[in-house]
Amino acid sequence: MAFRDLVDQDHAVMMLRSAVRSGRVSHAYLFVGPPGVGRFDTAVAFAQRLNCERVANDDACGQCRACTLIAKGQYPDVRVVDVKRGLLLHDDAEERKKKVISIEQARALRREVVYPPLEGRWKVYIFVDADQMQIEAGNSLLKVLEEPPPSVVIILLAESTVPMLATVVSRCQLVRFSLVPAPTIEEALISRHNIPKGHARFIAALAGGQLGKAITWARSEDALQMRERTLELFQRLEHADALDRMDAAEGLAKEKDTLGDLLDTALFWYRDILVWQESQDESLLINMDHKDVISKLAGEVPAPVLAARISAVEEAKEAIRRNVHPRLVLETLFLRLTPPPQPSVRS
Ligand SMILES: [Zn+2]
Repeated sequence: MAFRDLVDQDHAVMMLRSAVRSGRVSHAYLFVGPPGVGRFDTAVAFAQRLNCERVANDDACGQCRACTLIAKGQYPDVRVVDVKRGLLLHDDAEERKKKVISIEQARALRREVVYPPLEGRWKVYIFVDADQMQIEAGNSLLKVLEEPPPSVVIILLAESTVPMLATVVSRCQLVRFSLVPAPTIEEALISRHNIPKGHARFIAALAGGQLGKAITWARSEDALQMRERTLELFQRLEHADALDRMDAAEGLAKEKDTLGDLLDTALFWYRDILVWQESQDESLLINMDHKDVISKLAGEVPAPVLAARISAVEEAKEAIRRNVHPRLVLETLFLRLTPPPQPSVRS
């Protein structure tokens, strides 16, 4: 994963590239941004750039011994601390049980950083979830940051700086990462991961700016199966009676973890029908591979009904966020998704 392979993090890449080019590599960086936007990949690309044996165009070659081993996580001078994945500097049974970066990791770092690199030019330490670091660990890390050893770069990845020690934050160069726009994710899924356009559009929309999430979904088919089930359900609801609606709510309420994705999928669906009514432009559809059903429903469900349904789904999403009981939320929602009024029959 060289700089050129990263998607839409130009600001971060430009900053890191120019730091190496001008010889002003900071001893500590803090990569802040939402999960799934490429913070870890950027840290790896930076570590490769620092240690690559055949740098060209300000970027790592991606193929030399250093680049290859760094990508595999096997280079002795690039170490990752990722508690969730069980990657630790100080590894023992007790440490493995901990869910946060403990002081043992920071102590191990202090012991290690004093030695020069084994193979490369730079020793790089990447701390994933650095905002979930115990205070004692932060204080211990601070001692390293206060007297930075030469040829060591520490990269902290965090979603937010708020839980972190201000003294640690102030000693790091801040690099911000933002959500990736849906069209950019769609394009990356098509060109780099060979995902068909119709699927890519939907997965990109559902990923909400998180490329990592989109790639995971693209590989697992989970998102697409969830979509098919959801669209089937919402088409069924077009003609369901109250009892069927209650049954459907009861069944789905158990799938708490995926409810947010399900509601987003419903939102895209009604949005698509509305978009089709207004534009009849296939390229604007999120579910472009379901154009036929969308155009049929666009002829049956009037715009004000669709708008009311969209509000109902938005309100359901908000209720889930506020921890209202899923069954109650879904029952309310499904009863609000009433069929369009039947044309009155004149005698
Ligand atoms: Zn290389």
